[in-house]
Amino acid sequence: MSDSIKKKIAGIENEVITLRRDFHQHPELGLKETRTAGIIAGYLEKAGLVVKTGVGRTGVIGLLQGRKPGKTLMIRADMDALPIQEENQVPYRSENDGVMHACGHDGHMAILLGAAQILSVHRSEIPGNIKFVFQPGEEGYDGARLMIEDGVLENPPVDAAIALHLGCKIRTGKIGLRNGATMASSDAFSIRVYGQMGHGAHPENGVDAIYISGHVILSLQSLVSREVSALNPVVVHVGMIKGGTAGNIMADRVTLRTVVRTLDEDLRATIPQRLDRILKGITSAYRGSHEMRYLGGVGPVVNDPVILEMVRSAAEQTVGRENIIIPEPSMGSDDMARFLERVPGCYFSLGVGNEEKGYNFPVHHPRFDLDEKGLTIGVETMVRSAFRYLGPTE
Ligand SMILES: [Zn+2]
Ligand SMILES: [Zn+2]
Repeated sequence: MSDSIKKKIAGIENEVITLRRDFHQHPELGLKETRTAGIIAGYLEKAGLVVKTGVGRTGVIGLLQGRKPGKTLMIRADMDALPIQEENQVPYRSENDGVMHACGHDGHMAILLGAAQILSVHRSEIPGNIKFVFQPGEEGYDGARLMIEDGVLENPPVDAAIALHLGCKIRTGKIGLRNGATMASSDAFSIRVYGQMGHGAHPENGVDAIYISGHVILSLQSLVSREVSALNPVVVHVGMIKGGTAGNIMADRVTLRTVVRTLDEDLRATIPQRLDRILKGITSAYRGSHEMRYLGGVGPVVNDPVILEMVRSAAEQTVGRENIIIPEPSMGSDDMARFLERVPGCYFSLGVGNEEKGYNFPVHHPRFDLDEKGLTIGVETMVRSAFRYLGPTE
């Protein structure tokens, strides 16, 4: 069957590219992917799957039930675009001003639809179920949580989950697989530094919240440089600061927003106390005080060694052992983490980079575009992974 899968997938390459270009031309922001959801639902229905829409607002599930009972594998693609004005001059350029599929989710969806098409033809050979999950709002809308709350992991219960992210850092024809943590956690905190208002000419009569905040911002970096092993990456970023009313008045409060990222769940759990301790020490040293509020976040994306090996062998069969690479972990995040906290799984990287053809921009860039030759490699890896996990012989 092995060669016939390659042939069958080659037979739908144009269809997959057409789907991707259609999504690219009509991008929609997180939790607003209504047109996108409609296209997906229609396609899955035509492939003969049981389709559920409106899961986690605009999410879609296609359920393929094999002929015999067995395990349930979930394959996930994210659906949302970004608030970026596209700068590419291509026939399939975004028609929605200020909105662009600059993170490759258009490709993820096309790949998953292609895989659903191929696997639905093989339904009679497949024991168990495959859940094709199209998740809205990955770019900061916590779409994974919304889908989980709407029961995406139940009925039938999901035993394992896989997903890919494409990117130009890896050349087309190569696949990246990394054991353990492959993307970072991301936790946002709101910090208030309090002082006491007074005339700027007489600092001794007030408590300057802006002066204190300066110390706070610098001291937060000691978390990285003085508290955590250099071999355990952590990023502390202050991305917003607000305070004060005039140049000659001492500010009585300053608001800061910070995001902390790490690859280590144990370290992540200690971050709130560490932040609080530093804030308390610094603010009280200068006669001020503070308040800290957790705004939410996701854990690291951690691959399961068993599922990873399964995807690796599927990937090796697709592109050859020499084309499998171990990518560096990323300090970016992906809410795929929410699924992988609950079921074992694998999140891997698909190469779509080709510098000579101009496919070398990073994701979230207004000129990001992808080498469409990589799409069917994604389809094949997903199809072979499903076969391997659910157990029919190839
Ligand atoms: Zn993104
Ligand atoms: Zn993305």
